[in-house]
Amino acid sequence: SMIPDYLDQVLHDVASNTSGELADYIPELAVAEPERSGAVFATVDGRVYGAGDIDTEFTIQSISKPFAYALALDDSGFDTVLAKVGVEPSGEAFNEISLERGTGRPRNPMINAGAITTHALVGAGLLPPDERVDRVVRGLSAFAGRPLTVDAAVCASEMDNAHRNLAIAHMLRSYGILDEDPRAVVDGYVKQCSVLVTARDLAMMAATLANRGINPLTGDRVVADSVVRQVLSVMATCGMYDAAGDWATQVGIPAKSGVAGGLIGALPGQIGIATFSPRLDSHGNSVRGVALFERFSSDMGLHVMEVP
Ligand code: GLN
Repeated sequence: SMIPDYLDQVLHDVASNTSGELADYIPELAVAEPERSGAVFATVDGRVYGAGDIDTEFTIQSISKPFAYALALDDSGFDTVLAKVGVEPSGEAFNEISLERGTGRPRNPMINAGAITTHALVGAGLLPPDERVDRVVRGLSAFAGRPLTVDAAVCASEMDNAHRNLAIAHMLRSYGILDEDPRAVVDGYVKQCSVLVTARDLAMMAATLANRGINPLTGDRVVADSVVRQVLSVMATCGMYDAAGDWATQVGIPAKSGVAGGLIGALPGQIGIATFSPRLDSHGNSVRGVALFERFSSDMGLHVMEVP
């Protein structure tokens, strides 16, 4: 059909771009194959189109953040979550040691400080750490429509080098934003980031957001409509960190990136899009992923501020 041919063509067009670097602060990510690239469109009525490396597994990393935020909102309620994690774009890097003056509240759930706090809010504070991880992995699996697992090697590699996230978690504990052992929360958050996905999985996860929280293939409702609106809004304003403004103007699709090279976008009522390519720009966003989304947006008029 036409769509895979189009995707093949766009992948071919960006293949000459070899700029960017693999993430190496997590040593296990530095052994990824840099040339891999794939792109998938998943419509809200369950059609899936892809080209390139769409069944290669890689770790979800920060793309887990909007989905864990959705689970936290569903489990703990809006008031409880908003009291601990804000919704203001920080304009800072994903790993900035950035907490609101006075309260210690992280500015949003897409930066690490907010995502570590969000992880602790899954299960409404009722689950011990390992059961909370199970709830997160099962929740991500429901978004994807198949059972997902944790990559133990990537997880151990990140945990061995997690000093910065541990420092952030200790700050959160000192402000009372976290009220439990900071190391246990970071351990759970790192497991969440180490969930293995493919571009096809990510497109289905994004399509579930685009489809009001109902997985288009399984028909399962994963989270409430109101939760999806909140999550997509935060993705639109904060999903690309300190490149969020460039992205909003150039691409104009609610999105989230991860340092293993994944990138998702969700267009409400239409499609979920996912790309995979491991080399990253200075913001930690996939170089070819950003280039692919720029093409998709302009070729198909997907910018949400444009009249279709
Ligand atoms: N696990 C990574 C971290 O906490 C996720 C970062 C990312 O994908 N931007 O540093």
